[in-house]
Amino acid sequence: MTLWIMLHPVNGKIQPFCGKVPAMSAVLEVADRQISRPSGLAEEVYRRIRSDIMSLRLPPDTRVSVDSLARELGVSQTPIREALSMLEANGLVSRKHFTGYATAPRMDRAQLDELFEFRLLIEPHAARKAADAMVEADMTSLSAVSGEGAPSHDGFADMDTEFHKLIAQGGGNHLIADSLARLHIHVHIFRSCFRSEIAEEAVHEHDVVIKAIHARNGAAAEAAMRRHIERSYGRLRDFIKE
Ligand SMILES: [Zn+2]
Repeated sequence: MTLWIMLHPVNGKIQPFCGKVPAMSAVLEVADRQISRPSGLAEEVYRRIRSDIMSLRLPPDTRVSVDSLARELGVSQTPIREALSMLEANGLVSRKHFTGYATAPRMDRAQLDELFEFRLLIEPHAARKAADAMVEADMTSLSAVSGEGAPSHDGFADMDTEFHKLIAQGGGNHLIADSLARLHIHVHIFRSCFRSEIAEEAVHEHDVVIKAIHARNGAAAEAAMRRHIERSYGRLRDFIKE
């Protein structure tokens, strides 16, 4: 079974969808998609396409055409190409030889297992180091990205990305921070499965990590991060069977 996620067309809330890919035209309004603001255009285009990829409006492993995006969003090809380069750097699309760009393929079960084996080795250790070494300003930033009050699916994905990034950087080991960043963990996870309960549970688990880091308690931070990653894995495993 595949679990698809989507945003409710009216209230923008996340809702689960199990089964076949839904007809996307029935899910999202296509009107009002043209972009009118001239400044920060590539950034705006980037955010629009990113949101389409995270919400599966653009499904995994799907060709992305510069022409049709330019037409749909009512902009020239230049900001589209710029946005696609940014998306490529963040692991959301890859360049294909003859066909332009395609969205990143879906993670399979073996990749999920490898990803979480790696996270379990690295992130609890990073949390222990962060409890010792994280500077006060970053501890304040950390509390702001627990995921509490995230406005949307990709809003929560952004906060979770930032949360794990700050902790990975907090211990001061650049190799740890870089290797986690290179995995683009959140791109893969958040397109696989999303239910609003997942966000609620994750926020609670994040809070336990934050408290331990604030208390400078390395052992507690390590244990709390291990528990968060084990539980995340458990939540996803059920949806990615093969
Ligand atoms: Zn998390």
